[in-house]
Amino acid sequence: MLIRKGECHGCGECCETVNITVVRDVTLRQHGNREELERYLKYRGIRVVGEDRENNYLFYAMDVPCSQLNADKTCKVHGTPEKPLLCLKYPTAPDDIKACGYYFEKEGSFLKK
Ligand code: SF4
Ligand code: SF4
Repeated sequence: MLIRKGECHGCGECCETVNITVVRDVTLRQHGNREELERYLKYRGIRVVGEDRENNYLFYAMDVPCSQLNADKTCKVHGTPEKPLLCLKYPTAPDDIKACGYYFEKEGSFLKK
């Protein structure tokens, strides 16, 4: 189990990417191995940014900016019912945003978001 630590400092970088969680063992079986999976996804602009073997997850990221992101990195729908639930809970799993104020810890080690 990964535990989230840290805090949001409003950089807006998470609004520039879409994060997807997939089932690790099924996905690796389909593609043969991690290298083949990463090659396949890379051609489509998708990155494998982490994994959680204990819970059988792989984490993907795609650079697709949100239409609700303002130029100053604020959210147009913040504080309204139109803000997606996932945005309110983000991040729920590691991704590769280096500037993010959150990170995840597991059994004494840590995974940067
Ligand atoms: S990337 Fe992290 S620090 Fe930046 S806005 Fe998103 S949650 Fe906040
Ligand atoms: S709805 Fe707002 S918080 Fe969610 S990704 Fe878009 S700009 Fe970011």
